Amino acid sequence: MKEQKSEERFSHQIKVSLLLFPFEKHLHFIIFVTYLFTNYDIIMKLSKSFVPTLKEVPADAVIPSHVLMIRAGLVRMLSAGIYSFLPAGYKVVKKISDIIRKEMDAVGGQEFHLPALNPKEIWEQTNRVEAFGDTLFHIQNRDYVLAPTHEEIMAYHAKGELKSYKDMPQMWYQIQTKFRNEARPRSGVIRGRQFLMKDAYTFDKSWEDLDVAYAGLEKAYRNIFDKCGIKYFVVGAASGAMGGSKSEEFMVQSDAGEDTVAYCEETGYAANVEVAQSIVEGAKRCDESKELEEIHTPDVKSIDELCEFLKIDETQCAKSRVYIHDENPVLVLMLGNDEVNEMKLDSVLGGQVRPGHAEELKEITGADAGSIGPIGFKHRIIADLRLKDANNMFSGANKNSYHIGGIDFQRDVEKVEYFDLRTVQTGERTINDDGTLEVFKAIELGHIFKLGTKYSEALGATFIDEDGKEKPIIMGSYGIGVERVMACYLEQNHDERGIQWNKELAPFHIHLLGLNMKKENVKETSEKLYNELKQTGYEVLFDDRLDASAGFKFNDADLMGMPVQVVVGEKGLKEDSVEIKVRKTGERFSVKLNELSDKLKEILG
Ligand code: ATP
Ligand code: MG
Repeated sequence: MKEQKSEERFSHQIKVSLLLFPFEKHLHFIIFVTYLFTNYDIIMKLSKSFVPTLKEVPADAVIPSHVLMIRAGLVRMLSAGIYSFLPAGYKVVKKISDIIRKEMDAVGGQEFHLPALNPKEIWEQTNRVEAFGDTLFHIQNRDYVLAPTHEEIMAYHAKGELKSYKDMPQMWYQIQTKFRNEARPRSGVIRGRQFLMKDAYTFDKSWEDLDVAYAGLEKAYRNIFDKCGIKYFVVGAASGAMGGSKSEEFMVQSDAGEDTVAYCEETGYAANVEVAQSIVEGAKRCDESKELEEIHTPDVKSIDELCEFLKIDETQCAKSRVYIHDENPVLVLMLGNDEVNEMKLDSVLGGQVRPGHAEELKEITGADAGSIGPIGFKHRIIADLRLKDANNMFSGANKNSYHIGGIDFQRDVEKVEYFDLRTVQTGERTINDDGTLEVFKAIELGHIFKLGTKYSEALGATFIDEDGKEKPIIMGSYGIGVERVMACYLEQNHDERGIQWNKELAPFHIHLLGLNMKKENVKETSEKLYNELKQTGYEVLFDDRLDASAGFKFNDADLMGMPVQVVVGEKGLKEDSVEIKVRKTGERFSVKLNELSDKLKEILG
């Protein structure tokens, strides 16, 4: 659409110049304009443009978005985690950036452009040279780092400039390259070592004002992802190394993700499995408690082996794990094969927590892993809620090759404490019993944080409040990975033939195919259509290649995935018709040339 505007400007200039200048001078001008238009055409005509599509799947690409970005000629890898965007790919990056810009500006964002090369000293003031560790790129022999994010630099600029409560609120953002020496760069641009981020920062005088800014940004994020046509969900997250009080992550479901989340379609509940909760039936308490009984169980090490040996169900077993919490042993009991969720355990215990080593286990319990249990364990015991008050249970005897049966948690396990310690599973009910959970891998698209005063305090960014007191500025930080948005869109919108762009993100709205360009009528009509469609305001990719076969052109068009294909062929032209194919639905139909414009308007708007 932008190009159309510049064309209008050119044609206006031509008219003006024709009126104002004598004819001999027009000639130069006309030649100049023709030259410009010819060059401008290069990026739209496949015969002259650089859109290197590939038939083969690149060896190192596994996930669909990575495969498609390479095959459709959108990117090329320079080095692990470092990608070059080719012209068609960069058009998409610009479109996503424009959508983001529009929504950021709508909530009062002001665009910045900060340097990527940062004095290390500023990062030292917030202790983040250490916090980022190996992920931070350093410049050799110089006191600089390559910025992985820009909290420090924005706070640095706020310092001394936002002096009074009257200078706030402020919302500053940029769309800029970040550098992170990711340990395992993979999945194409989803985890790059150099990537484009929209990062925004808010500066407020009060927590109430931060709430307002945060709510505005959350709305902007929803608009951005809706406009991009991405299916996402929002997860409340722990703030991690960033510090602060509240944060939410915008996620998409994908096997390429590194987070595991529990999501409920009916209620919209979404949580990282590290904290997600569900309702699960606990172990049943029988009317009658049996006596404790030691059983010889040679070679039995796992819950499955115990069940097999004793012909019992796993819900009759209490699994034992020994952890060391600030140098003290803790026995953690789970029902059957439930695994300990170590994040939940960490938040229950606090402090330093780690699994006990094999030698420690022997020393603490007298037995090896597989024969440990609560009876006779002399230290702290905690158990998962599913074991609450269970009886007639089996567990290790703290003696190799022995287990104990008839364990009644009320009667035999003194001072046991119960907590939710297990990881939720697909199919379980939500904690409010209003829906069913699904557990899957997900990718983080964006993140919004209420940072608070961590950075403003470290960098001395203070202001004088209404009461005359000096206070640290209250900050928020908000990020979106621009290329990650593109890759996630592709994860969700493709079929076995290629990409299915929507008109918002597509490099071009229309893919015009001239089937046999050696035939005069095909050449003439498709070129005429190309010019008319461009003039209407569509971005058109024109496959005008002389030597490519129809099959080759069809395959390329499906791979590149523009929303609409307009196919000009000899057969159709005999009836003054062309064929339209809607890429997303696969629908194809023939349209009379004089009805084409209306039909396209109907499809593309
Ligand atoms: P992740 O958990 O995936 O590593 P992060 O929590 O480190 O992400 P933030 O610091 O919150 O990411 O950065 C904001 C946004 O930048 C992320 O939501 C993501 O979309 C994008 N992003 C982060 N790291 C990368 C990367 N290595 N490559 C591409 N995009 C990234
Ligand atoms: Mg994050």
